[in-house]
This record gives sequence, structure tokens and C-alpha cells, in this order.
Amino acid sequence: MIMTVEELNTIETSIKEEIKNTLVLIENYKALTKPIAPENAIGRISRMDAINNKTVNEAALRKAEQKLTNLKIALSNINDNDFGLCSKCKSPIPIGRILLMPHSRFCVNCAR
Ligand SMILES: [Zn+2]
Repeated sequence: MIMTVEELNTIETSIKEEIKNTLVLIENYKALTKPIAPENAIGRISRMDAINNKTVNEAALRKAEQKLTNLKIALSNINDNDFGLCSKCKSPIPIGRILLMPHSRFCVNCAR
């Protein structure tokens, strides 16, 4: 354990908050990626627009889902002895970075 209990509590609260936000985001993206109405209902051009937007939103949805997975992993790892250590170089990750990106398991250098 390289962090104080207070630091871990702060991080845990932050991760849970981030999970909540990400779940809302995922719901929004899911609503935006529903099947698109047929051409004769909304017109050809707006249907093409809708398909383009859908592709963008689907990519965003996948990203948000990936983030949620990582956040959950971070949350379950929080009591591990090596929590807060970079998965690659094993050097401590600054608490500011963990709070900013709790889903990242790498220090700034290794994340590049
Ligand atoms: Zn590293």
C-alpha cells in the first residue's frame, strides 16, 4: 500500500462518481444509436445524416463502454498492494493523475 486511507477514499469516491457519469453517457449514446427510420419516413438526405451521426455515436458509445469497464477494474483494484503503481514501469502514479484518469493503469510516460 503506497497511499494513505484518505487518498484511497478520495480516489474511490471519484471513481464511483465517474462510473455514474459514464453510465448516463452510455444511456444517452444508446438512445442516439437506435435503428434509423426507413428512407420513405424521413427522406433520403436526413436518413444519410442520421446514419453518419449514428456511426459517430456508436464510436462514442464503444469508447464510453470501454471507459466504464476500466473504471470498474480500477475500483476493484483499489485495495491491491500495487494500486497506484504504473502497470508497466512500476513507478508510482501521481494522485492527481489517478483522480483525473482513474481508469489508466499507466504513468504519464508509459501511457504515451
Ligand atoms: Zn510507467
